[in-house]
Amino acid sequence: MTSVLVVGAGVGGIAVAARLARRGYDVTVLEKNAAPGGRCNQIVQDGHRFDVGPSLFLLPQVYAQTYAALGERMEDHLDLKRIDPTYHIHFEDGTVLKLSADINWMQEELEAIEPGSFGGFLRYMAEGQRHLDIALDRFLTKNFYTLYDQVNPGNLSLLTELKLLYKHYDNLGNYFKSEKLKAVFSFQDVYMGLSPYESPAAYSMLQYTELADGVWFPIGGMYRIVESLVSIAEGHGARFVYESPVKQITVEGSRATGAVLADGSVMHADIVIANADLPYVYDRLLPDRGLARRMMNKQFTCSAIMFYWAVGEAYPQLAHHTLFLSGDYKASSDCIFHDHTLPEKPSFYIHVPNRTDPTAAPEGCENLMVLVPVGCLYEELGLDFGALRARAKEIALEQLAKLGITDLEAHIKHEVSYTPHDWRGLYNLARGATFGLKHNISQLGYLRPQNRHGRYKNLYFCGASTHPGTGVPIAFLGAELVEERILKEQPVS
Ligand SMILES: Cc1cc2nc3c(=O)[nH]c(=O)nc-3n(C[C@H](O)[C@H](O)[C@H](O)COP(=O)(O)OP(=O)(O)OC[C@H]3O[C@@H](n4cnc5c(N)ncnc54)[C@H](O)[C@@H]3O)c2cc1C
Repeated sequence: MTSVLVVGAGVGGIAVAARLARRGYDVTVLEKNAAPGGRCNQIVQDGHRFDVGPSLFLLPQVYAQTYAALGERMEDHLDLKRIDPTYHIHFEDGTVLKLSADINWMQEELEAIEPGSFGGFLRYMAEGQRHLDIALDRFLTKNFYTLYDQVNPGNLSLLTELKLLYKHYDNLGNYFKSEKLKAVFSFQDVYMGLSPYESPAAYSMLQYTELADGVWFPIGGMYRIVESLVSIAEGHGARFVYESPVKQITVEGSRATGAVLADGSVMHADIVIANADLPYVYDRLLPDRGLARRMMNKQFTCSAIMFYWAVGEAYPQLAHHTLFLSGDYKASSDCIFHDHTLPEKPSFYIHVPNRTDPTAAPEGCENLMVLVPVGCLYEELGLDFGALRARAKEIALEQLAKLGITDLEAHIKHEVSYTPHDWRGLYNLARGATFGLKHNISQLGYLRPQNRHGRYKNLYFCGASTHPGTGVPIAFLGAELVEERILKEQPVS
């Protein structure tokens, strides 16, 4: 039986393991940590359950496809609740905007900020839908085996159809005049780890999918996705081995031969799939130093300072998803993406899962996950992330006080917090970049690292820094692309 070693049990690694096990491959997944999930992990403490990373369940159709490809129905595994209003957005001047799929509501909310903007919103949504349809049909679901697969007469129109050469923030000027609304319809680019001032206008697809396909949340937390897929994979015969860090992927000629674990044990396999963050894999697990340097010199997404606060008090001022948008949106983006540090006045996001899912926290208590975007790690800058974390906390508490939440600190029962160093240590994310390599035009499609090594023909990659990119549903699309490629190139025997 053809044997497969998967290095890493992130969502991409789990999905590809499940798919290949179902096809009859003999699959073993080696995970450095004690539990699967990678960035989609959970923290459970005294009845408080936090999702470590992902909190927005987007593109439900892509999740459903993954379950279907494994012979399952998503509804049998996930109890999904739609979150609407999707976000409560607080601006520096005290204005509050609630985004919703309710079109009449949106008309009132938008017109109150910029009279006449509702028409622009409808046109912007129509563009977002076009972008999403094209991306799903011709970009995110395609393996680019050669440059010609992407750059051919049939595909050149993608540049204009997806507005790939047009900056997202500039493009918003075609729909809105208000700087507030431009910020409201571009902040989601941070999910791709990008500044809206440099991301392509194609990312209007994010705002469209949030309002049209919905923002959802599984009861039990995002970790339910991980648990259910691991159990499906195991049902098809895949084995998960935890606390087993790989220290080297072994190679010979044009083949990967297996892996050496940190304890010195050696495992052989016909196929190796690295789900661990790709630049880390090149830098730490493979021999070619030149390729490693090239990978580490690529452009990285931002990182995040996180606080997971178990709170013994309820704060109804906070919604399931609450966002604080900085008064100086441009300066704040530049600070994160060019200076790689914490802005003076950062925008930040708070997730309160128990607002929708009472099982997430004990009665009368809350879980606050606070995400403050910050630059990724460039050691040469010598930043003191302990001090930046303290400042991020101070800023978050100050903003919350403006909503009347003045006694929060006294009610925090437990605090867990992460800086970029923790992201790097916990999951081996190169430069602590929470979303992997950037999704700018020079690192997209064929120009993004592809899912097979150029030299080792049986070494595949699946995860956020590889084509098609970051986000849980996109990792699932990546797993499908790796499966397609392996079935073609290394059929099961
Ligand atoms: C703060 C934050 C918020 C996010 N929000 C969202 C969101 O709302 N919605 C969304 O869809 N996405 C979100 N994302 C992105 C999403 O979490 C990721 O894109 C996705 O989880 C990445 O999965 P992956 O397959 O690349 O694996 P990873 O999560 O990178 O997992 C790789 C695994 O490999 C393991 N590993 C590393 N090195 C080794 C080694 N040497 N040996 C063995 N194992 C190893 C790691 O421990 C890890 O378990 C968020 C991410 C973060 C960090």
